[in-house]
Amino acid sequence: MIDKIVIANRGEIALRILRACQELGIKTVAVHSAADRDLKHVLLANETVCIGSAPSINSYLNVPALISAAEITDATAIHPGYGFLSENADFAERVESSGFIFIGPTADTIRLMGDKVSAIKVMKEANVPCVPGSDGFINGDDAVNFDLAQQIGYPIIIKASGGGGGRGMREVHSEAHLLNAIALTRSEAKSTFNNDMIYMEKFLEDPRHIEFQVLADQHGNVIHLGERDCSMQRRHQKVLEEAPAPGISEEISDCMGQICVEACMILGYRGVGTFEFLYENGEFYFIEMNTRIQVEHPVTECITDTDLVVEQIRIAAGEPLSIKQEDIIIRGHAIECRINAEDARTFMPNPGVITNYHAPGGLGIRMDSHIYSGYRVPPYYDSLIGKLISYGKTRESAIARMQTALNEIGIEGIKTNVALQQDIIDDANFQIGGTNIHYLEKKLGL
Ligand code: ADP
Repeated sequence: MIDKIVIANRGEIALRILRACQELGIKTVAVHSAADRDLKHVLLANETVCIGSAPSINSYLNVPALISAAEITDATAIHPGYGFLSENADFAERVESSGFIFIGPTADTIRLMGDKVSAIKVMKEANVPCVPGSDGFINGDDAVNFDLAQQIGYPIIIKASGGGGGRGMREVHSEAHLLNAIALTRSEAKSTFNNDMIYMEKFLEDPRHIEFQVLADQHGNVIHLGERDCSMQRRHQKVLEEAPAPGISEEISDCMGQICVEACMILGYRGVGTFEFLYENGEFYFIEMNTRIQVEHPVTECITDTDLVVEQIRIAAGEPLSIKQEDIIIRGHAIECRINAEDARTFMPNPGVITNYHAPGGLGIRMDSHIYSGYRVPPYYDSLIGKLISYGKTRESAIARMQTALNEIGIEGIKTNVALQQDIIDDANFQIGGTNIHYLEKKLGL
């Protein structure tokens, strides 16, 4: 069994992991940067270790410091959360070769899925439907690339195989722009991800982003927990998520979920995982797999009454899944609004001291956040300061509860995107449900 976990992350997810550990009776080690001494989970953990100065590269991405922290505290396992080193195969390998449990899939699986071209190849072999595209990397042969784009049909999108975080993608609407887009994306991919491999896909003009949550133990048991709709995006990054996806029937959801389960079996997958798809005209197209817990996992927890982080830790400890597919019954509807320390109109980050914080509450409201009155949001990291989640028997009830909660939340001293979330929740088309991935940017006039 796992006795002590190093939480190799910060902010709301570090607190989320700490809560799961406490529930399981597992001791916690909060590792933190010099700028993060006042984080809520650092104040609550059994032990704390300062692993470096504020910039992530010196702290949350500092592999030797993280391994040393696990060694000096005699920990059993390391939980990477999301972002930072969570999808870094070399880190997972280093954790395991140092004698600790990495709470996630094997390094080989992370490597395979972390490269989008290899992930697509495996998915095709596992009969998962993919976006029509280049079937592998594209090379520097202009004539071949012109032909390929012609066959796929414009518009197309050039993507970095090692890309993430919504970066390393470029749409191309006509032949005249193809070569330039290939060159630019390749050089960006090299400088941002240190990997200049790129590929080509059909650019879907009216898709929704729909993803499926899976859980797989180390004994060959795999289940899915339905889908989430994450179409409300800005710059390819999610702003608001909900589950289940409006308008997707239970039969279709279960059929796609089973396709993901079978792919996990072929992969020998372990841990929590997400299969991301674009959904257009009734068809699903795989785009990538995330091999970690996701920001938006709470909406699935609400509608399935399952603690995904607890399950993740149990799986890492070698325990069999405590739930079977037939135990997963989707009930009600959940919505998550990401609350960011940023201007609601310009999206400029706005770190600083929260002079006063009032959390929303009431039936069906969950606030996953590390902030408190007097907490200083540091300027060094992601601007996410919390996730407001509403749950109701129906989508209408989840929307009404979210409206009440957004009205009630009070965060003073810094700017937040609460007003943007209110605009979205009050939007007539959002309320109908099923808006596509381009909707928010169009609404904002971007
Ligand atoms: P990342 O790893 O950076 O998150 P993804 O491949 O998951 O990249 O894509 C992120 C988002 O980019 C998708 O949710 C979608 O909005 C957009 N996108 C990706 N591929 C396509 C495509 N072929 N057509 C249209 N939009 C796409």
